[in-house]
Amino acid sequence: MAHHSIRIREARTHNLRRLDIDVPRAQVVVFVGVSGSGKSSLVFDTIAAEANYQLNETYPPFTRNRLPKWARPEVTHIDGLSPVVVIDQRRLGGNARSTVGTITDIWTYLRLLFSRVSTPHVGEATCFSFNEPAGMCPTCSGIGEVVASAVDRFVDLDKSLNEGAVLLPGFAPGGYWYSHFADVGVFPLDRPLRHWSRNERDALLYGARAAGASAKRLPREYQGVVERFERIYLRSSDDMSERKKKTLTEFTRSEMCPDCHGDRLHKESRSATVLGHTIGEMARMEVSELAERVKGVTEASVAPVVSALTDRLQAMVAIGLGYLHLGRSTTTLSGGESQRIKTLRHLGSSLTEMIYVFDEPTVGLHPHDVASMTDLLGRLRDKGNCVLVVEHDPAVMAVADQVIEVGPGAGEQGGTLVYQGSFEGLCRAGTATAAALRQHRRVKEDPRTPRGQITVAGATRNNLKNVTADIPTGVMTVFTGVAGSGKSSLAGELIDQHDAVVIDQRPVSANRRSTPITYTGITAPLRKLFARHHGVAAGLFSANSDGACPGCQGLGTICTDLAFMEDQETVCDTCQGRRFRPEVLRYTVDGMSIADIDDLTISEAIHRLPDRAIVRAVRHLDEVGLGYLRLGQPLTTLSGGECQRVKIAKALRDSTAPALYILDEPTTGLHMQDIDTLLGLLDGLVDHGHTVVLIEHNLDVIRRADWMLELGPGPGKHGGRLLYQGPVAGVTGTATAEALHQDGT
Ligand code: ADP
Ligand code: ADP
Ligand code: ZN
Ligand code: ZN
Repeated sequence: MAHHSIRIREARTHNLRRLDIDVPRAQVVVFVGVSGSGKSSLVFDTIAAEANYQLNETYPPFTRNRLPKWARPEVTHIDGLSPVVVIDQRRLGGNARSTVGTITDIWTYLRLLFSRVSTPHVGEATCFSFNEPAGMCPTCSGIGEVVASAVDRFVDLDKSLNEGAVLLPGFAPGGYWYSHFADVGVFPLDRPLRHWSRNERDALLYGARAAGASAKRLPREYQGVVERFERIYLRSSDDMSERKKKTLTEFTRSEMCPDCHGDRLHKESRSATVLGHTIGEMARMEVSELAERVKGVTEASVAPVVSALTDRLQAMVAIGLGYLHLGRSTTTLSGGESQRIKTLRHLGSSLTEMIYVFDEPTVGLHPHDVASMTDLLGRLRDKGNCVLVVEHDPAVMAVADQVIEVGPGAGEQGGTLVYQGSFEGLCRAGTATAAALRQHRRVKEDPRTPRGQITVAGATRNNLKNVTADIPTGVMTVFTGVAGSGKSSLAGELIDQHDAVVIDQRPVSANRRSTPITYTGITAPLRKLFARHHGVAAGLFSANSDGACPGCQGLGTICTDLAFMEDQETVCDTCQGRRFRPEVLRYTVDGMSIADIDDLTISEAIHRLPDRAIVRAVRHLDEVGLGYLRLGQPLTTLSGGECQRVKIAKALRDSTAPALYILDEPTTGLHMQDIDTLLGLLDGLVDHGHTVVLIEHNLDVIRRADWMLELGPGPGKHGGRLLYQGPVAGVTGTATAEALHQDGT
């Protein structure tokens, strides 16, 4: 039986409140609602999770054990599912062998082309594969870069050997390697390295490889510090421990391969040409240019290859990625670029009746580029798929076959279905999204007066064409321009030339035990509050000392060491995860034990624990709209937008001297209503005397800025110029001016 919809009954995942909904299949369905309302809980954690769970169940146990584990969502009934592909903004991964060319399969066609028609004629297509022994550059094994010792970081010149001048682990006095160079009797052990002669230092570092008298006096078997280090860390093929990896990042750097200069291929393949270009040159051309060039290959024997190649290159241009080049390592792509590449890979597939789930596909896209993205969504649907999109951009809602709003508020105030229907209908509805859509927006009429300015001079990073820009201080400035025009590159220069604080969406903490309590430092004030209330010692309320559960020493969990596998963590039987001894939990304040405090939200804490130290510490989190977080909620569960707001709260709390703050696409993950809150916070930073620079495409943000810089006119080498700097109201003739105009400003 064919299903026309995904039927969901009584979904209870996270904050969903027994949500019943029928989501139509074979349509583009856009899910909206304020941040924290439950969109992801419904789309990712219920629909995608259940589909993946059921799919995994169909495999034999042997296979199942090797697949990612999906928790079964809390829902009474779902039917009408099919396999789900989640296309999120997770970056394309850290494999150095993966490039734009390999991940899109375009490289396969390009090397096929070279193997057939290049001069001189070289043979197999594998000769052009840097992932195969036949093709790879032997020096860098096809990576294009080599890991080299950062010798300048090895020693502290102001110290003597006896004071630990060699900074590598194990090379200081008492370390395993120390005697290997200290005992040879050639080096002055107590003299700071700065006062050694050049050839003494070279002998220490490079041993017999160095020239000079000192090196000659060394015993034949002496190995210089650099040689030793490289043997232990670079030339050993052992699996490395975390500690070793850390040392490696600290004391080495990547350098371009001295042999292939980044082309990754061995010598013969590097010099073969098609249309007068080597494959390396083609890998460095912008995709849009390459698409034109390869059409010039007219040999009939390769017509199918050329046509497959052209199709794929043009598809990249069509989704606004024509400014990338095939040799670009995927690890350097932004989240938005990664997402568009993943989409592209699925467009080429002939699967139908799949469910595609997108997480904010417009991230990183200028309004000018959004149409190419919505086009893609429509094409996936037209191939017979169900396309579910979580998105805040009205331009995407406008192309939806159906819009579903979850709300009305965030967290416990959300989790219900508040609207389902057409976009036109939504505009007339009484929801938070509808209200935001109806608001009339205008460019700021009275921008703040700058207090001064800082200059970025002669910026040439990536595609920037010797840009010199003045950034006014004491105001809010926005960098705009189409995707790939050079905004992030300019921000990077700004950070390097002037110290700036970057407020990004990266996790606040990687430590699972870090919570709003530990982050704001209210552990001690909380203990004191309980101690004062009952006239007992504060240490009693510490899970690290007197009050700790004896079963788990106050950790709440027990770690079982399983030798060869990852440690297994289970909830402590003695305290059920509450961390304290039972007698400690009998002491209460306002009816709550010290363990109950974890369940309080920040807003509740402010009302129920009127302690000055506590209120002062958590107040800023409430002010940035995070009052709904629970005090004991691990910070690792926060979304990107929430992490960013935690960082803004910290900036509001800590910074006294005027500072420069840079935010890259701060509206990611935020509903229009939340954007207003965010802008209020940023206004607060500026009112405190700080300078704020935003990289943004969101028109509401652009309208509220005091000043704007636009880069362009196009992406990649067609961009990198400063098109405009001045008040937002003054911009004309650019992509942003046009977008503002079309949006009714
Ligand atoms: P949205 O996608 O609309 O921003 P979410 O579905 O991410 O909202 O979150 C809805 C609610 O569920 C929020 O209150 C959030 O804190 C909570 N939540 C999200 N993920 C988890 C989780 N892994 N565990 C517990 N609560 C969660
Ligand atoms: P925007 O922020 O406006 O989207 P970027 O500053 O990220 O633009 O990129 C400008 C140009 O520089 C683009 O052509 C992009 O492909 C290129 N670029 C960005 N980062 C890198 C990098 N790490 N390596 C090589 N090229 C890069
Ligand atoms: Zn090489
Ligand atoms: Zn315990």
